[in-house]
Amino acid sequence: MTKQELEAYKGKLQQLSQEYLAQIQDLEDINREETTDLLEESGDSGDEAAVLFSENIYASQIQTLHELLILIDDALKRIGAGAYGQCLDCGQVIDARRLAAIPYAQYCLQDQTKHE
Ligand SMILES: [Zn+2]
Repeated sequence: MTKQELEAYKGKLQQLSQEYLAQIQDLEDINREETTDLLEESGDSGDEAAVLFSENIYASQIQTLHELLILIDDALKRIGAGAYGQCLDCGQVIDARRLAAIPYAQYCLQDQTKHE
């Protein structure tokens, strides 16, 4: 992989990281607002099921985004360590099309299936 290609992947990863952080922020804001609304609407009786439901939807989305951010961070570390684009299992170079689609991919397509 050339230095230019690495820089391009790095830029892409940093951009994704920014996007996901913004999405987490948005989801946390929406979650807070909706939870407050639900609490106000339900009054003293407190429709806790609805509140928990709304928290769960956003919580799982936020959780997924946090996991992606960790993968992105790891990928950025691998760029720094000169190991970017290599499968963590077999060490082979990950297909460029796969990296273009998923720049934080950890495994080649073949090994990815083992980890799912
Ligand atoms: Zn592999």
